[in-house]
Amino acid sequence: MTSRPMTELMPGEHTAAWLSEQQDRLAGFLARPNARHEFTSTTEMRHADGHLVTLESVAHFLRDESGQPLLMGVSRDVTEREQADRNIKQLAFFDVLTGLPNRSLLHDRLDQAIAASARNRHSGAVLFVDLDHFKTLNDTRGHGVGDRLLQQAAERLRQCVRATDTVARLGGDEFVLLLGELPSDPVSAASDVRATGEKILSAFRQDFQIQAQDYRMTASIGVCLFQGDADDREELLKRADLAMYRAKAAGRDALAFFDPDMQRVVSARAALEADMRKGLERGQFALHLQPQVDGAGRVFGAEALLRWQHPERGAVSPVEFIALAEDCGFILALGQWVLEEAGALLVAWAAQPDLAGIDLAVNVSPRQFRNAGFVQQVSDMLARTQAPAQRLKLELTESVLVDDVDDVVTKITALNRLGVRFSLDDFGTGYSSLAYLKRLPLSQLKIDQTFVRDLMHDPSDALIVRTILSLGQSMGLQVIAEGVETQAQRDFLERHGCNAFQGYLFARPMPVAAWAPWIRLPPPRNSS
Ligand code: C2E
Ligand code: MG
Ligand code: MG
Repeated sequence: MTSRPMTELMPGEHTAAWLSEQQDRLAGFLARPNARHEFTSTTEMRHADGHLVTLESVAHFLRDESGQPLLMGVSRDVTEREQADRNIKQLAFFDVLTGLPNRSLLHDRLDQAIAASARNRHSGAVLFVDLDHFKTLNDTRGHGVGDRLLQQAAERLRQCVRATDTVARLGGDEFVLLLGELPSDPVSAASDVRATGEKILSAFRQDFQIQAQDYRMTASIGVCLFQGDADDREELLKRADLAMYRAKAAGRDALAFFDPDMQRVVSARAALEADMRKGLERGQFALHLQPQVDGAGRVFGAEALLRWQHPERGAVSPVEFIALAEDCGFILALGQWVLEEAGALLVAWAAQPDLAGIDLAVNVSPRQFRNAGFVQQVSDMLARTQAPAQRLKLELTESVLVDDVDDVVTKITALNRLGVRFSLDDFGTGYSSLAYLKRLPLSQLKIDQTFVRDLMHDPSDALIVRTILSLGQSMGLQVIAEGVETQAQRDFLERHGCNAFQGYLFARPMPVAAWAPWIRLPPPRNSS
């Protein structure tokens, strides 16, 4: 009999782990030689004819004549037993027809998801999905067709969710989806779920092909959100089921939330989102400009502020739609549009001597800045329009600073190289650490208007403002105060070293067409 090292019989990827396990055991044996060192383990090995087998080994350490430690054991082939175990598990926890988790496994996962949500405050959702008029198809076309359709339906559901979500089949044409790790904010969570639900509904609107025939089969979905362990599993399933009946009652091929308030909020948001997308196509967005003035009252810059002229609702403020645009990703398209408009403005200004020296500040939302293509987006715009980059100032909010600082620094530096400068908007409201701030190649801090507003009455706001001003001074950054409405505020700010201001005291944001005429008014200019 020839002898060969164990590792030669193992698939290569297992050897390192196996060796280190034996090393640990040997160390245990050497440390306590008199204890009993016997262990059982299962390992995959290669059979002489090449296929893999699972071996269960019982082994123990002893010493040979020369005192060297020796591992001795007996292994037996347990491949079939392991396979049988797997089959039993598969039968116990998975649906035979679709291979999806069955009700018991769903219950386990739902209990875990509820517990996890209580720990980490994420929301979760249960979606009850029921096929519309499946019974009719099953009865008229036969169970063979019904079964194939259920298999395809299972596959479509699986493709609509993340790998970490659960798609289970309860039986018949009832499926339950469990979505975990949703945002803690219930409205955002509901929006995410709604998006997934819409994806499912539209996936089911595609014909199913079975034995070269097309079949139509839509779905109705009931949704119930959860956060923490306030509700138990049975209650959640019951609610999602109830909501599903509401979707059926609403005409099928629909999605309904258990909570009617949530339903209203989510529907309103969905309508607003659709309106925004249409609005951009139809030219309903515009930039307004608000001047920024220096200590001598000279206009050195303007901030571009987005306005949405909605056909029914009139002028909609960005505070009403930026957050939603950010949530649903529409901000990427909207932000791109803002950048293009800003580029066009800078080009137009460059041709007019009294406007050519004016900086244009553009707000950039966190999601837009985080987007991998952001630097490219800005530099493409500059290259295409030939806009003067050194006149462009991008306003970031403190919330981008909680991200990967290296990435933030890389992006800012790349754009700095082109001449673009950065300002930190709403400064003081977030949680920037000074250590972070020092690393960022910014050129301006913008004192948030909430501090300016109560400057004259609230000593702690006054203190914050003074602190920001001296911070800016020591870091070599310009500090601009926004929301300056009164002469008293302006004078206080100036006394403490501020020499850049923006606010109604100087002018309200105005349409682009009003900008050049306003600049050309003799000072003191007036916003009215
Ligand atoms: P922000 O960047 O901090 O802009 C300053 C806000 O203060 C503007 O509100 C401006 O109209 C308002 N404001 C200016 N002076 C005064 C004043 O003296 N008193 C008072 N009470 N308010 C003043 P607006 O235009 O409603 O914009 C709100 C926010 O929406 C902006 O805050 C900015 O965060 C966001 N936003 C606006 N345009 C864009 C954009 O193009 N992209 C992105 N991502 N966000 C934008
Ligand atoms: Mg701003
Ligand atoms: Mg601001």
